Amino acid sequence: MGSFNFFTKTSSLALTLTLSFSAIADRFSDVEITQLKLSSSSYMLTGSGGNIGVSAGKDGILIIDNQFAPLSDKIIAALSAIQPGLPKYVVNTHYHGDHTGGNNLFGESAIIFAHHNVLKRLSGDTNYKPGGLPSVTYHEGTSIHLNNDTLHLLHMGPGHTDGDSVILWGDKSVVHMGDLFFKDRYPYIDLKAGGSVLGYRDNVAAMIRKIDSDTQVIPGHGEIATKDDLIRFKHMLDRSINWMKDNISSEMTLAQMKAQGVPESKNENNIDWSWSFISHDKWITTLYEDLK
Ligand SMILES: [Zn+2]
Repeated sequence: MGSFNFFTKTSSLALTLTLSFSAIADRFSDVEITQLKLSSSSYMLTGSGGNIGVSAGKDGILIIDNQFAPLSDKIIAALSAIQPGLPKYVVNTHYHGDHTGGNNLFGESAIIFAHHNVLKRLSGDTNYKPGGLPSVTYHEGTSIHLNNDTLHLLHMGPGHTDGDSVILWGDKSVVHMGDLFFKDRYPYIDLKAGGSVLGYRDNVAAMIRKIDSDTQVIPGHGEIATKDDLIRFKHMLDRSINWMKDNISSEMTLAQMKAQGVPESKNENNIDWSWSFISHDKWITTLYEDLK
């Protein structure tokens, strides 16, 4: 996501810093890390920020994303309940602070993997220590072999940002979509960081072709999901894109589009696609800015 990327948005005023850090401490003090077992060696952890994927077994612990820095101790406690030891490997699905906030701490014990553009962006952010930066980077992807699984780290071009990875288990039992999937919500697409509305949709479509009906789908945000949930999300993207293209070719203004509203604002389960961070108007603005 990126809405709570406080690393990069805090003011230089000492007073503001003090206030915002105490607000952050309050915000995270009540967060609980919840564990969901997906297979004998894979788990999903939820707390605040992007969902965490876990591989644990004889070769040690690998985590995919690590939420916000103030949650690192709670995440370590949750991992210890699975098996002893700190993570040996960390994968960053993209650079946003709600997925990489624990890099400084986890980087002390782990090798961090990410797309090359994640390193490019985080290395320009003084909140990340050298040890908190990805040390193995790739452009198209790589594979990690551990715990009797092969994890494929796949980059499919611009989508949520310009440096997204999806992590697909070799047996297709699990996939972690990063922020290329918000379950039953409009996605945040970070156009300023090289994201792309059409690329986002195409990447989702590509992953639908790669997974099975019984693949357990970890979204960047939201509950554990299925291929059907991802297909429903892709149909919403298609309808939104087609509606926006038609409106642009008929020279509607952005204000007129907002007044009309997205044609199908709720999904087949009658759940509204809008949420606290991406309202209908914000979604329309994102579509318009990228497709106009
Ligand atoms: Zn994100």
